[in-house]
Amino acid sequence: MSEQLESKIVARLREILGKDAVAADHDELMVYECDAMTTHKSLPLAVVFPRNTEQVAFVVKLLAEHGIPFGPRGAGTGLSSGAVAVGCEKGERAVIIEMARMNKVLEVDYANRRAVVQPGLINVRLSQAVAARGYHYAPDPSSQTSCTIGGNVAENAGGPHCLKYGATTNHILGLEVVLPTGEIVNLGGAGADSIGFDLLGAFVGSEGTMGIATKVTVRLTRTPQMVITLLADFLDLNDASRAVSAIIAAGLLPAALEMIDKVVIAAVEDSIYAAGYPRDAAACLIVELDGLQAGLETQAKRATDICFANGARSVRAASDETERKKLWAGRKGAFGALGRISPDLFVQDAVVPRTKLPEVLAGIYAIGAKYNIRLSTVFHAGDGNLHPNLNFDGRDPDEVARVHQASKEIMKLCVDAGGSISGEHGVGLDKIGYMPMIFDQASLDAMLAVKDVFNPLGLCNPGKAVPAQKMCREHKKGFEHLLAN
Ligand SMILES: Cc1cc2nc3c(=O)[nH]c(=O)nc-3n(C[C@H](O)[C@H](O)[C@H](O)COP(=O)(O)OP(=O)(O)OC[C@H]3O[C@@H](n4cnc5c(N)ncnc54)[C@H](O)[C@@H]3O)c2cc1C
Repeated sequence: MSEQLESKIVARLREILGKDAVAADHDELMVYECDAMTTHKSLPLAVVFPRNTEQVAFVVKLLAEHGIPFGPRGAGTGLSSGAVAVGCEKGERAVIIEMARMNKVLEVDYANRRAVVQPGLINVRLSQAVAARGYHYAPDPSSQTSCTIGGNVAENAGGPHCLKYGATTNHILGLEVVLPTGEIVNLGGAGADSIGFDLLGAFVGSEGTMGIATKVTVRLTRTPQMVITLLADFLDLNDASRAVSAIIAAGLLPAALEMIDKVVIAAVEDSIYAAGYPRDAAACLIVELDGLQAGLETQAKRATDICFANGARSVRAASDETERKKLWAGRKGAFGALGRISPDLFVQDAVVPRTKLPEVLAGIYAIGAKYNIRLSTVFHAGDGNLHPNLNFDGRDPDEVARVHQASKEIMKLCVDAGGSISGEHGVGLDKIGYMPMIFDQASLDAMLAVKDVFNPLGLCNPGKAVPAQKMCREHKKGFEHLLAN
């Protein structure tokens, strides 16, 4: 794209959205060159900050007409480089459509247990807004104090309490979407079910490749009557893994079942998130049970007995809400705490059958040792959703190469164990090359065909989610009427 066209587009965007809604200076753009995964970087052409659906549709139409690639962005906490703006061809720049200014709770309907929000709303703000009436929004990624509901929809985000309550897809009832050609459509609805194809289901988890969500109708969940949070510590990590499987096999369904290894325990205890985790433990489990008061203590006793039967050294219940919050602050602040011990942190994401945790964890630590990388794990153990964390220095090319190699081997290990390459963070740019590990070409083609229906020019968030065989420019055949000139 010529510099002349770039300047013309930026000027037109400023004219329509206002000067304060378009960033195009090099220094400003650097803030948006990556998300929370710092290994993939690309400077955008511009970043726009729309305030309503019509502005989003205007921007999308203008860019589509000129064949300029673009991608939506929420808070940029993504851990698969999904919000990194890349073009259709190597070196080409794309425009970021940043949704942060569309951040309102538009409507709350307690009688029908739902709310309508804008996509830039920070996840935890919704729960805060409805807490006094005894409700919350159940999907709670550990990043919930900063990530947006739109980003959660695009990644089908999970979180500690998704073990019992289900991931984002189970809590989205309807979406208003600006399609990649600029039309505004509504998917799903406010009802319990909607007729026709499940396009809402297809959109959730599509990583910004099928359009931009501009309004989200979500399910609200009643806040449980009682919560019991246990901290169990183990001198052997395998014992902790076995306890996880045994708790679920016993028929208990904790609200959350999280594991933290000894490197993470040390990092947390050395940070402002210090939670009182025992420093000499090989691993800790946080087991949270919630529901009606009647019978909950019996369930907690059962979980405690199972932990002891599987080698726990101690199991204690948080004595009050302050202690419970402290235990969770340590877990949810774990990535931040790990971030303090090296210049960069690579948080990986994979999922394996729970029963395979002992052997897979052993394999993961062996890969860390083989590549001489400081590796730790903190993860949603109840659903086998692993997060191996690799601390490294991005200024050291050799170490960066070792991180990528180790990461690839971890993916293969998890797939060979019957798992998958992501439990919740999505594919993004980072894992696009790993998709053939789990899907054959016919299955990838079917996904691409669906994506092409929504995104016929291929301009919306190119390079993410599904590996394309064609560059987006080649897609324009048959869609010339949508393009200027
Ligand atoms: C400390 C930390 C802890 C985390 N813990 C968890 C966790 O427990 N569970 C979990 O699932 N993830 C977790 N994550 C990853 C991340 O927070 C989630 O993927 C989250 O959903 C990203 O939201 P975001 O607003 O930051 O989106 P971004 O990173 O800005 O974007 C993510 C993707 O969403 C797309 N997108 C953004 N807005 C829209 C929109 N309006 N319409 C369409 N597409 C859009 C983008 O194009 C991109 O592909 C964690 C990250 C960090 C840094």
